[in-house]
Amino acid sequence: METVEDVTRMHLVGGNLALDFVNTRTGPPSGPSDDDVLTGYPELVAWGVYAGALTETEATALRRLSRNDPDGTRAAFSRALSTRDYLDEVFRPLAGGRSPSTPALARLRDDEADALAHAQLAGGSTFAWVWRDDRTLARPLRPVVHAAVQLLTTGALDRIKGCGGCRFIFNDESKNRSRRWCSMDDCGTAEKMRRYVAARRIRAPR
Ligand SMILES: [Zn+2]
Repeated sequence: METVEDVTRMHLVGGNLALDFVNTRTGPPSGPSDDDVLTGYPELVAWGVYAGALTETEATALRRLSRNDPDGTRAAFSRALSTRDYLDEVFRPLAGGRSPSTPALARLRDDEADALAHAQLAGGSTFAWVWRDDRTLARPLRPVVHAAVQLLTTGALDRIKGCGGCRFIFNDESKNRSRRWCSMDDCGTAEKMRRYVAARRIRAPR
């Protein structure tokens, strides 16, 4: 059973909020995932704070809203999981050099339209969409959906890659586009160990 604490032990390695959201499911590079930290609405809110999509104040307001609306909370959580599914269907093919499906892109468009309908443009050094006044249970998903659209419309698609050792997807921001692992501490080290053991086996006297 996952807990809210497990959410904050996830490594944020996606380099983009939408990819980090997809990466809340773990497992081998292909096939079904074997673990999921998003086990309920409280975990979704905890992840939102951890990943920088929500402030602590917004999270507190959402928890209160959620306590008063169990049916709405169930619906919002199920929407979050289906959002993650279609984001996976958008970015996993791209990481493999293929095009995402039209239905997945259409769902992203609809959710982006909905997200922007709940947003405001706030000025700073540049203007940005913010969701400060959005008092709906879908609030944690707004910046996630918007980050997905931003990556698709302004990112370099050939930088979107899948980790060689697990199912994580990341935006490769390295200078020479040479990143292969979600993190050197996890899959990168595992690969180095594998190569070391293999090399020793070859060198070992028979
Ligand atoms: Zn990995």
